[in-house]
Amino acid sequence: MNKNINILNISTSKINLLDLNRQDLKNFLISLGEIKSFCTEQIMKWIYTHYCNDFNKMFNISIKTRNKLCKKSYIFAPKFTEEKISHDGTIKWITSINNQKIETVYIPEEKRSTLCVSSQIGCCLQCHFCATGKEGFQRNLKVSEIVAQIWQANKTLKEKNITNRITNIVFMGMGEPLLNLNNVVSALKIILDKYGFSLSKRRVTLSTSGIAPALDKLRNMIDISLAISLHAPNDVIRNLIMPINRKYNISAILNSALKYLKFSNANRGGVTIEYVMLDGINDSNENAQQLATLLSKIPSKINLIPWNSFLGASFLCSNIHRINIFANILRKKGFSVMIRKNRGQDINAACGQLTSNIINHLTK
Ligand code: SAH
Ligand code: SF4
Repeated sequence: MNKNINILNISTSKINLLDLNRQDLKNFLISLGEIKSFCTEQIMKWIYTHYCNDFNKMFNISIKTRNKLCKKSYIFAPKFTEEKISHDGTIKWITSINNQKIETVYIPEEKRSTLCVSSQIGCCLQCHFCATGKEGFQRNLKVSEIVAQIWQANKTLKEKNITNRITNIVFMGMGEPLLNLNNVVSALKIILDKYGFSLSKRRVTLSTSGIAPALDKLRNMIDISLAISLHAPNDVIRNLIMPINRKYNISAILNSALKYLKFSNANRGGVTIEYVMLDGINDSNENAQQLATLLSKIPSKINLIPWNSFLGASFLCSNIHRINIFANILRKKGFSVMIRKNRGQDINAACGQLTSNIINHLTK
């Protein structure tokens, strides 16, 4: 793949329509003097149903409007510049823009296919067990750069004649989505919009390490499925592995999550609690009991994630026997517990392995 294809020579005063959700597009069209309200939906259909990025092909839009659109805007989804395919069918795509890399992972399963998208390049939160955190923060992604990951993935799958279309989207790639709140919410609106990618809010999940005030804002902005990266049953352990816990501790996060749940239809089955299994750190029987007590009043389902290693990290993944015992303690207390399958490890596409700068290696 050509690495220089994402350098665009377009006047910066022009607007990329992939940066606009339906309301923004409507406002933009009004600013151009276009008053027919159905025009917004027509344009969105061209973009998100037909994957059309050429105004001249939009034959049901008047020539006058098309000319105005050409003068003031463009449609551009940065292309994938690298592709790695795992033996288990997982595909990792990299989009290189000015030497910065955005990573997107496609995970096909029997009954569904999930696209894991990035919301930032790097991450400033520096959770010690995460390769993205080790890389440090580079920048927030624009709405168009988030949306483009889905746009290009759908196009690429079609070109490859892969019929497993994307049924689920998870914001579990690089970055902390709640630290890029406005752009992430705008992209989410496009993902849920019936004239956008038209996915159900139950199939779109935002995973957060728990930026409590941003989660409180999110409640008034959009309803989607929520996953909380808890990873510890108490503040002592969480402080040790997630520095952000010193600012927003477990009780602050769970309080905000509870408030979100009260308003949300997407989370009727409860919030997803993510818990990475770290040998000797958070995986004892006592830790499982503490977790059960902590979550006793929070409608939740627990996702245990075997930790994926990367070079320079000083953790080990709990062995599968320990993970099963941990899971069973929680199940006996009535929790629904899933042990997440590791996908795409051979191409460094598994959770927490997404980084362009660190040389990864496989788990033991
Ligand atoms: N910043 C967000 C979303 C991206 S990380 C968040 O932290 O939730 C997506 C998930 O992968 C999170 O649950 C994160 O804790 C987990 N993760 C990070 N590094 C990991 C690793 N090395 N092995 C397994 N899971 C990891
Ligand atoms: Fe950032 Fe999430 Fe990685 Fe923590 S786990 S460093 S919040 S991407």
